[in-house]
Amino acid sequence: MLTKGSKAYSIIKMKCPRCHEGDVFFDANPYHFSQFGKMHERCPHCDLKYDMEPGFFLGAMYVSYGMAVAIALPSALIISALVDGLRIYQTVGIVLIEIIVLMPILYYLSRSIWLNIFFGYKK
Ligand SMILES: [Zn+2]
Repeated sequence: MLTKGSKAYSIIKMKCPRCHEGDVFFDANPYHFSQFGKMHERCPHCDLKYDMEPGFFLGAMYVSYGMAVAIALPSALIISALVDGLRIYQTVGIVLIEIIVLMPILYYLSRSIWLNIFFGYKK
């Protein structure tokens, strides 16, 4: 599944969606905050321009929102099922902390997914 040529490879490895060789981000670890969010303007390998129009990555916010909801809802259900006596605000607080901790990963993944929606793999 994680072989070169699949979208999952490009998304998870944060590689260029066209050639699967060049890096999208300067540092693929989203928790290295000194380099956080710094992207190459173009693919260092095939010269694909990532930000193809101004505001292109605004759409990645919708992807990020969807992933956050997809994580938050099951988490809230699991937490309330496993821990007795939690009030709703405690459950929401735990889920909020979880989402805040995961936000750098969601940010990177959403941009990678967004790029892969618009570009396909070419050998
Ligand atoms: Zn490339």
